[in-house]
Amino acid sequence: MTGSDTTTGVRLRGIEKRFDDVAAVRSFDLDIDNGELVVLLGPSGCGKTTVLRMIAGLEEPTSGTIEIGDREVTDLEPSDRDVAMVFQNYALYPHMTVEQNLGFGLKMRRLQRSEIDSRVSRAAQVLGLDTLLPRRPGQLSGGQRQRVALGRALVREPRVFLFDEPLSNLDARLRLEMRAEIARLHQQLRTTMIYVTHDQVEAMTLGQRIAVMRDGLLQQYAPPLEVYRSPANLFVARFIGSPPINTVAGEVVDRTSHSVFVAPAIEVPLDGCAFSGRATLGVRPESIAIASDVHDVDFVAQVQRLEPLGNELLVYLECPADCNWVARVDPEYECSPGEQVGVRLDRTRLHVFAGPEEELLELSPSEAGS
Ligand code: ATP
Repeated sequence: MTGSDTTTGVRLRGIEKRFDDVAAVRSFDLDIDNGELVVLLGPSGCGKTTVLRMIAGLEEPTSGTIEIGDREVTDLEPSDRDVAMVFQNYALYPHMTVEQNLGFGLKMRRLQRSEIDSRVSRAAQVLGLDTLLPRRPGQLSGGQRQRVALGRALVREPRVFLFDEPLSNLDARLRLEMRAEIARLHQQLRTTMIYVTHDQVEAMTLGQRIAVMRDGLLQQYAPPLEVYRSPANLFVARFIGSPPINTVAGEVVDRTSHSVFVAPAIEVPLDGCAFSGRATLGVRPESIAIASDVHDVDFVAQVQRLEPLGNELLVYLECPADCNWVARVDPEYECSPGEQVGVRLDRTRLHVFAGPEEELLELSPSEAGS
């Protein structure tokens, strides 16, 4: 501890949280850099809100330590941690104007009137609320109300912003708008932000790094593209990506010159795979090419249905080994339900998962020919 107050990184060490017999968070370590925007992502009940609440001081860890900047804050009251939290259910005071809502917390903390005014006007400017200051919440749209909720956190000028699914009550268009707003805010303020969501698109588009959680455990902590391209395990691979990654269970078999992934009526050469045994093959929808020619392909599939999305075409396929896969192809591609198509997989983008934790195996496609 140096006592310097200029860094606002967050460091969690060995955090455990039990609620009676529920282990909500287990062996949790996380380093968030000064000014970084990190997203905690995972399915409902995986412990992400509990992590956030522990950082805020609203929940006490069963064991482990939390540092913000150069201070250990594990035993500090929420008000002494210099963090501001934005919730999903932002309760604005209906009888107060936007200006009064923004300044209320500061007034309670007995800041001087001039300081309150200048902070409120700065926040209003940053969030484009200047012209709305005299209105009451009832006279605002959903997006404007959420912006006021953001503003209330902003005026506190905290060292760390904590967001708990702040956009989940908004409709799709507003969510998109507010997501851009939060990204812009982060770019402008460069304050450390921790953002909880179960929406993988939100995580991919907002986070500089994503911490993926499952059953209270950290699964992977990496930049979004790395999580997408090299998911640590099958759980992460399935959680990130829409439509989700295609999978098939089978076996990696060692042939004389190379390994092959084998499942009923599927044989895919794997370059540079040192493993053999039971495994799951994962293929992203965009790593699949289909054609009417069924010769010299990885396998043959039947088109089930088509989803033309304008910029891309999703082709749902009935594949061997009872698998239903989806391919993301050029929107101009022509095929119809019931048709047989040849499927080729992009060998440089295959994922193979194996072991009790279904971890990603290292493949090095450039090492050998297939
Ligand atoms: P969601 O996305 O649904 O909010 P989450 O990932 O944020 O889920 P948490 O709210 O952190 O998950 O909950 C993690 C686990 O801890 C869950 O099993 C939950 O039921 C449990 N839990 C959370 N808070 C309490 C509490 N106060 N008392 C008992 N169990 C709790």
